[in-house]
Amino acid sequence: PPPPPPPPPPPPPPPPPPPPPPPLTTPPPPPPPRHSTRRQRQMCIRDRVHPPAAALATAQDRLREKQAFGELGIPTPAYAAVDSADGLRQAAQRLGLPAVLKTRTEGYDGKGQAVLRDAAELMPAWERLGGVPMILESLVRFRRELSIIAVRDAAGEVRFYPLNENHHREGILRLSMSRDRDPWQAWAEDCVGRLLRHLDYVGTLALELFQTDDGLLANEIAPRVHNTGHWTIEGTPSSQFENHLRAIAGLPLGDTTLSRAAAMVNLIGRLPSLDAIAEVPGAVSHIYGKAERPGRKLGHVTLTADASGFNTGFRERLARLLRLAGEDSLAAQVEEPAAGSN
Ligand code: AMP
Repeated sequence: PPPPPPPPPPPPPPPPPPPPPPPLTTPPPPPPPRHSTRRQRQMCIRDRVHPPAAALATAQDRLREKQAFGELGIPTPAYAAVDSADGLRQAAQRLGLPAVLKTRTEGYDGKGQAVLRDAAELMPAWERLGGVPMILESLVRFRRELSIIAVRDAAGEVRFYPLNENHHREGILRLSMSRDRDPWQAWAEDCVGRLLRHLDYVGTLALELFQTDDGLLANEIAPRVHNTGHWTIEGTPSSQFENHLRAIAGLPLGDTTLSRAAAMVNLIGRLPSLDAIAEVPGAVSHIYGKAERPGRKLGHVTLTADASGFNTGFRERLARLLRLAGEDSLAAQVEEPAAGSN
C-alpha cells in the first residue's frame, strides 16, 4: 500500500498584535490669531488702507493742514486759529483786513468761508458760519492760482503731473489749463514731494497754490484725485485716476508727462446743450448724471491742443466752450493772447 500522505504543515503563526495606540495627549493649542489685539488689528488695517487715515485727518482740518505746511517749511498765507467771537476780533487785528474766515472742517467749493473787508463784517460772518472752530487767513493778492498733482506708490516712488493753472469764481473751479514747463514746476514738485513723504502717502494727492509777487504759497491739499487734474484723462498717457488705482493696487506707476496740452471747463449748475459742445472740434464731455442745482458740478469738458500748444485757434475753441458754460468773462480773458500762454 502507498505510504500515508505527510501530515499537513503547521498553520503559520498568528500575525503580531497591532502596536498599542499612542497614548492620548491633549491637542496642541490653536495658533494664535494673526491679530490678537485690537491694536494689532488697527495696525493691519492702517497698513492696508490707502491713502492713510492720518493724511485724511490732516487734510480735513484747515488748522492741522496749515501746521503741517509749517513743519515742512512750506510757506502759507498768514493765518490765525479762531475759537471764539473775541478770538476773531483779535485775529483780525493781528492779521489786518481784508481776510478770509474759513471753518476748520467741512468747507469746499467756497462753502464754509467768508471774505471780511470791514470790521463790521466780523460778527455777522462768525454767526453765519455757525460759531464753530475756524481759521482766519490774510486775503492773498495772487497773480495765478496753481495746483500740482502727484502720485506715490507703496515703495515710495513719486511721479508728478505738469502744473495746472486754475480759475475760480465764487470759490468754485471753472477752468483748469495744463502748464508745459512752467517755471514753478520744480518748486511745486519739491513741496508736494515733501508732503507725500511726510504723510507716508500712497495714491494721488493735489496741492493747491497761490502764486504771488513773492513766490508760491500753499493753500490746501486734497488727498484724492482732483478736479484740476481731470484733463489728465485726455492729456497724459496715465491719468490721475489710473495712477491712483495703480498706486493703491501695488502696480507700477504710469507715465505722467504731458502728451497734449489741455484745458478743462467745469459745467456747473445747469447743463448747456451737449450738441453745441460736440460742435466744438476736439471737445470731450464727461457728464456725471446728477440733477441740476445751482453751484453743483454736473460734468466737465476737456479740450486738447496740438503740438503748438494754446495757439489762437485753441483759444477760440476754448472761449466758445466757456461761453456755453456761462463763463463769459473768462472767455474774454482766454482770447487775450497773454493769458496762460503755454
Ligand atoms: P479753498 O476752499 O481754501 O480752496 O478756497 C476756494 C477759493 O477761494 C480758492 O481757490 C481761492 O480762489 C479763494 N481763496 C481761498 N483762500 C484765499 C486766500 N487766503 N486769499 C485769497 N483767495 C483765497
